Amino acid sequence: MSKKTCSFCGRNEDEVKILISGIDGEICEDCVQQAYHILETAGVLGPEANPKAKSKQFALKKVPKPREIKKYLDEYVIGQDEAKRYLSVAVYNHYKRLQQPVDANGVEIEKSNIIMVGSTGTGKTLMARTIAKLLSVPFTIVDATVFTEAGYVGEDVESILSRLLQVADYDLDAAQRGIVFIDEIDKIARKSDNPSITRDVSGEGVQQGLLKLLEGTMVNVPPKGGRKHPDQDYIHVDTRNILFICGGAFDGIERKIAQRLNTHVVGFNSVQNVRNIDKGDLMQYILPQDLKSFGLIPEIIGRLPVLTYLNPLDRKALRRILEEPKNSITKQYVKLFEMDGITLTFDNDVLDFIVDKAVEYKLGARGLRSIVEAIMMDAMFEIPSKRAKQFKVTLDYAKSQLDKSHLQERESA
Ligand code: ADP
Repeated sequence: MSKKTCSFCGRNEDEVKILISGIDGEICEDCVQQAYHILETAGVLGPEANPKAKSKQFALKKVPKPREIKKYLDEYVIGQDEAKRYLSVAVYNHYKRLQQPVDANGVEIEKSNIIMVGSTGTGKTLMARTIAKLLSVPFTIVDATVFTEAGYVGEDVESILSRLLQVADYDLDAAQRGIVFIDEIDKIARKSDNPSITRDVSGEGVQQGLLKLLEGTMVNVPPKGGRKHPDQDYIHVDTRNILFICGGAFDGIERKIAQRLNTHVVGFNSVQNVRNIDKGDLMQYILPQDLKSFGLIPEIIGRLPVLTYLNPLDRKALRRILEEPKNSITKQYVKLFEMDGITLTFDNDVLDFIVDKAVEYKLGARGLRSIVEAIMMDAMFEIPSKRAKQFKVTLDYAKSQLDKSHLQERESA
């Protein structure tokens, strides 16, 4: 009996590991792989090729309980307990509301958009992003400064929603219950109470654009990016069920809080109140009226009923951020090296040194990454070509690498 051969490459059964038989032919393992590769490059495989599979990615799942949301956040975000609790509850309620919009008695739960106040690099975006990941809902980040003075639902709003649609892979249902993180909301605050003669780039007009979006409105979004919708010119996106999470540093808001607390403590009970106030951390006393004093219009504040704050990160928190989160910076580098078969370790004093530098450069958590990157640059370049199985980052090595890196000059410039 003649030997079986692969109908594609012609090799016989002794030359290959396996031959898979079809009705009228055989195929070997190498040709299967090659065929798979062809399918991949042709874009016939994966979610892109199968829109149904993609939209499943955003199917509304059972919403985790606030405790579970908080626990998940704990894995990625260090500290910020108060903000995590607020956010967990707000998100939980939001999605509960989506699952049962109106009950028999006509009780309709209103949307609870969120505003987070805290200095830059304290984890506001990270927190919003982590929640979106947990819930597998479309998520996009926009800068509040894109809102223009127009005061109507304009191009800026369309572009935000068009981005959300893109992330949702044009699954309209999914996009309409997505999360939009609006960063730097403090930048559109009115600068002063007196209307100025020179045109203010921030201010009420700008806030009106944002207000429309928060309130819930129908926006006609032109379909963009590659995909064609021949039977519809515009996609009508309803923002009513989109959860908006706003974040801002609100530099100087502590002064407003202090002013308010001062005026309140005058009089009855004042002595006791003054004693209870922790002057070192005034942010914890933040109330909606402080946002108003800062220059947000009351309508906006009304549409952001959940107000919470994030603490500045101290050394201890920065040190934990380096190591503890599930995808911490050090874990990421260990993984990178592991892929080349190299065991990477950092000495403890190196981690302390990195934290010292981040504090010195006043970069907060954001700086940790660029410092580690500067330290690891040469090693990442050299080690993969060497035969090393291990690489240990010592304090001397870290110091010399950082000195070489020019990061110092850049940061002090
Ligand atoms: P912002 O408050 O300005 O939105 P981000 O959330 O973008 O700050 O934080 C910038 C980076 O700093 C994040 O990607 C993350 O690596 C790190 N980071 C900041 N705060 C925390 C935190 N509390 N826990 C863990 N990592 C953090």
